[in-house]
Amino acid sequence: MTRLTGLTLLLLATAGAPASAATTPPAASVPASAASATTAVPRTPVILISIDGLRPDDLDRGVTPHLSRLAAQGVRAEAMRPSFPTKTFPNHYTLVTGLRPDHHGVVDNTMEDAAIPGVRFTLSNVAAVTDRRWWDQAEPIWVTAEKHHIRTATMFWPGSEAAIQGVRPTRYAVFDGKLSADGRTDQLLSWIDHDDDSDGFGFLTLYFDDVDHAGHEQGPGSAMVMDALAQVDRAVGRLVDGLAARQRVANLVVVSDHGMAPVSASRVVRLDRMLPSGSYRVVSSGPFAGLEPTPGREAELEAALLQPHEHAECWRKAEIPARLAYGRNARVPSYFCLAEPGWTLSASEASARRTKGGAHGYDQQAPDMRATFIASGPAFKSGVVLPPFDNVDVYPLLMQLIGLTPLPSDGQLETLRPALQR
Ligand code: AMP
Ligand code: ZN
Ligand code: ZN
Repeated sequence: MTRLTGLTLLLLATAGAPASAATTPPAASVPASAASATTAVPRTPVILISIDGLRPDDLDRGVTPHLSRLAAQGVRAEAMRPSFPTKTFPNHYTLVTGLRPDHHGVVDNTMEDAAIPGVRFTLSNVAAVTDRRWWDQAEPIWVTAEKHHIRTATMFWPGSEAAIQGVRPTRYAVFDGKLSADGRTDQLLSWIDHDDDSDGFGFLTLYFDDVDHAGHEQGPGSAMVMDALAQVDRAVGRLVDGLAARQRVANLVVVSDHGMAPVSASRVVRLDRMLPSGSYRVVSSGPFAGLEPTPGREAELEAALLQPHEHAECWRKAEIPARLAYGRNARVPSYFCLAEPGWTLSASEASARRTKGGAHGYDQQAPDMRATFIASGPAFKSGVVLPPFDNVDVYPLLMQLIGLTPLPSDGQLETLRPALQR
């Protein structure tokens, strides 16, 4: 008997069928946003591809011919500066909203919110990840697009599984980390094949996490990262070939959310040795730590926390340095510590011992945290290398490409305009 795996079920559910791929409610029932259509030219879709944890120097390792070709034919940035904290969910939401994490509300991969009591937001908490309340502080590009009758399809993207402001992508899939890079690419192509709307999709996403996984496991530049790079690069080639075979022209924007720094059990700052036992609760730890005080023990905790530490610095949330643009959002924990790049804030002996491979979450200016940007397609010039820019600027670019006026954001198109044909 053939056993249906989770993967098979996902494919059955999403291959042109609406089980987990929902249809957006009619625009009449959706409140109009501030954005407006600025052009009526025939639509060339934008495909936003995220390669989680891809460092700009990963393209120089000689294993990414397809990405290198896209960069040579189009545009690449020397580097793209991520937003703080340099974690996956905060930066993916920044890329599609143009807002810093403090402004869009996805302030960490792990969060608590007094307004959503009893829930701890984590990547593996499917109920939380798909709950719009965590995402509703901002409006991602696919929501604005759908409100303007531009159809969207997301082959994984943080936030895309929630009905943000009541709106979902026309096609989306519930995250399945086991679905291969090729499988994700084929799913996106299948959605394009089965699209019955004459305008086609205007905005699509594709997400790959193999490079991030390998980077965590063995560190940047490791043999495992090289294998993952080659695999994801082949999937990008598969997409390019698949589009060509279908005579589809698209603007491809390839980004990463952050880089990766080597970490080691020999570079650990022990929170449990630094702070009075029982005076705090750890919300998250690693390259940075978020802490909540035990009620009544604030003064004792502050006395230990707010003094100088080797390889880490700690603040009350209101006093986090302005360069990090972090700490105003209610979801940022009361106390916050940031480790020096390559160091790890650890809550226990056991977690300290497990520290190995690579990590991210450090200051967004740290060289190891730099992210990648490549763009290619009819909207882009050829052979342009852009100086470093902030990842908040990707959102106004994407909005320009789909012909919509961007909502107010922290980004600006100016840094990317030299990349555009017109
Ligand atoms: P991190 O490296 O801790 O910032 O998180 C990266 C991980 O997030 C990836 O390895 C993915 O497995 C996971 N991830 C990415 N997108 C989603 C999603 N939509 N839902 C749940 N987990 C996801
Ligand atoms: Zn990531
Ligand atoms: Zn990661």
